[in-house]
Amino acid sequence: MAKVKLTSEEIARIEELAKGWGKIIVRRHWGEQGPGLDVDLNEMEEVAMAAVRALLAGTLEAATAQQADQLGSERACPDCGRVCPLQRAPRPIVVRTGSTFDHDEPKAHCPACRRDFFPSASGPEGEHARV
Ligand SMILES: [Zn+2]
Repeated sequence: MAKVKLTSEEIARIEELAKGWGKIIVRRHWGEQGPGLDVDLNEMEEVAMAAVRALLAGTLEAATAQQADQLGSERACPDCGRVCPLQRAPRPIVVRTGSTFDHDEPKAHCPACRRDFFPSASGPEGEHARV
């Protein structure tokens, strides 16, 4: 599958959206008045980093789950071609920040070949999802 690079306009739109969520997090965490004068920048950064990690995990979990939904309920074995039912298996994936998200990975088992295979919407049959 060809790599599609985000345009600068798309990146700007995503950043603007996430900045808005930052304001929501401040309001939800510290209330309508915002942080008191006793809250230092270090503590603010801790809150922001917790939000960044959760935003990353939530985005990747939603995106990969929607890709998996597009695969349907059956897939042909890449070795023998037998159509096998697709199931989901949880697999924690470490991303570039070092944090983890819970990938609900599509997985099939071919009883004829006695092997598992992992179709993905973004890669050829038999490979793990490219995340
Ligand atoms: Zn097979």
